[in-house]
Amino acid sequence: MTENMTEIKNIANIDSHLDYQVIVIGAGLSGIYQIKRLADLGVRATVLEANADLGGTWYNNRYPGARFDSESYTYGYSFSQEVLDEWHWTEKHSPQPETLSYLNFVTDKFGLRKYMQFGCKVHSMVFNEDTNNWAIRLDDGRQLTARFVITAVGTLSTPTLPKFEGMASFKGASFHASNWPHEPLDLTGKRVAVIGAGATAIQLIPEVAKAAEQLTVFQRRPNWAAPLNNAPISESEMALIRERYDEIFDVCARSPGGFEHMPDSRSFYDVSPEQRRELWDRLYDEPGFAIWLQNFMEIFVDEKANAEISDYIAERIRRRVNDPVLAEKLIPKDHGFGVQRLPLETGYFETYNRSNVELVDSTETPIVRLTPNGIETSEASFEFDVIVYATGFDSFTGAFDKLNVQGTNGKQLRDKWAAGPVTYLGLMASGFPNFLMLMGPQTPAANFPRSAEMSVNWVTPFLEHMWAHGHQRFEVDDAAEAEWVEHVKDMYKGALLRNAKSFFTGYNSNIEGHEYGKTRYNIYNGGVPRYANMLSQMTNNDYEGIYFSKNKSHYTLDSEVNAATLEQ
Ligand SMILES: Cc1cc2nc3c(=O)[nH]c(=O)nc-3n(C[C@H](O)[C@H](O)[C@H](O)COP(=O)(O)OP(=O)(O)OC[C@H]3O[C@@H](n4cnc5c(N)ncnc54)[C@H](O)[C@@H]3O)c2cc1C
Repeated sequence: MTENMTEIKNIANIDSHLDYQVIVIGAGLSGIYQIKRLADLGVRATVLEANADLGGTWYNNRYPGARFDSESYTYGYSFSQEVLDEWHWTEKHSPQPETLSYLNFVTDKFGLRKYMQFGCKVHSMVFNEDTNNWAIRLDDGRQLTARFVITAVGTLSTPTLPKFEGMASFKGASFHASNWPHEPLDLTGKRVAVIGAGATAIQLIPEVAKAAEQLTVFQRRPNWAAPLNNAPISESEMALIRERYDEIFDVCARSPGGFEHMPDSRSFYDVSPEQRRELWDRLYDEPGFAIWLQNFMEIFVDEKANAEISDYIAERIRRRVNDPVLAEKLIPKDHGFGVQRLPLETGYFETYNRSNVELVDSTETPIVRLTPNGIETSEASFEFDVIVYATGFDSFTGAFDKLNVQGTNGKQLRDKWAAGPVTYLGLMASGFPNFLMLMGPQTPAANFPRSAEMSVNWVTPFLEHMWAHGHQRFEVDDAAEAEWVEHVKDMYKGALLRNAKSFFTGYNSNIEGHEYGKTRYNIYNGGVPRYANMLSQMTNNDYEGIYFSKNKSHYTLDSEVNAATLEQ
């Protein structure tokens, strides 16, 4: 199995300090903005990043076809007028290399690289109750301390692999799509297998089919997918977008998903079937999530409405796939349209009309084992040069489990979250003082930057409040946390997504404890505006649900004390 063994070029960035006021973990979109705000305040802070460079998702996911489903201009940061004025998105849905350049552009523009340490994977962190600091141990053996830790570790940053017999014996190249090699991989003349049919597979399959000699897709469960309808953005279009930025971000703030797409204000039942069809014909040809998020709200909560839109999309798929038997295999039968995160595609269904593409239905002929030369199913043996695992992520909580976080009384975050995340507003967790999460579980998993900016814009003044009042420590009230979690669960009750096998419910057949039926309440499903209101209400009520204390030892600390804590 090949891994990206990219040299840690930026190792020189490693800082000689051992103690910080704030440590941010992760240099993706969220960590970059957080360190900007802390740097502006002159706080002694650093970002620890496991990768060899910044970018998170957009550093890792280099597979062909990797790009936004979000509209590029709704995905960019909104905090800097200069960035908005200077950056030109060249495509409506930016490809991965451009997004990575964008994150580098923002970082370099504000001189943030000097606050980032690369190749620094956090191995564990322990809260020291005497000093009110976190003692952080890195994989390289270094031990650091910080009064506050802010995690920006990502919701889709921990890839999961299946557990087939013989995986290690395969002699060709094999990797998770998220670890697609950084160096160019020439697929000319290659026989390629893609295992999986989720959002990543749906993006990469059309591209791999064009490049490879033969592509075989092993699909267990098809996903609904709809056209991305991507297009270039010209200079003049970008100029118009720049003029509209205030309006665009205002719509994002008012929309449930943080996108430019507002749900149709009419009721599904007030509109005739012909009018519904007219709307869907139009939305299907519009860019991005229009068909999903500009639809009637009933499609998310009402079985009958959902069945009708599902029939409509199924019909569209049938029109695009020449072989009717194959078309049926590509149409989901176990869940309705839109109740899982909708993958967007460019020529995905037509790809199956190509003579060099084959679909293996793994429910009919399951994969039995991998062999040195390929894959053996219950029916046949296949030979491959390359195997790509598009098998998803240990979403929302996976990166936290790997952080090995120990709070008060020796409590492990992993244990607290064994049956699913338990948070206060997705930002904090009781038993884990001075610990803050950006894009943590139970925040709105919408257009990510809109939520990430909201989190950073809350966390930063919250820390300023603590510093202004001389508080050494904050803790979350158990009852406030329990009330929030109940609210999160309530938001799942009416929604059809509660039954879906998706990361919304924490389903992942490759992880123990994530089986179907063991629902994990991973996201805040009440929408961005409602979440924003609850956050301001809590803040205006004197940070309701949070206890502050001053009576512990002050910030400056003896590194040895913390080293001793880590030894325990
Ligand atoms: C293929 C793909 C496509 C996507 N498309 C969209 C889209 O169109 N729209 C959208 O809104 N969202 C999309 N997302 C979600 C995407 O993850 C977010 O948009 C956003 O990039 C998340 O940024 P982040 O900084 O919160 O986390 P990430 O970008 O995941 O960054 C987390 C960082 O933390 C680091 N880290 C984790 N653990 C440790 C540790 N122990 N020690 C040190 N460092 C650590 C990781 O190495 C990583 O660099 C997509 C995700 C994927 C995987």
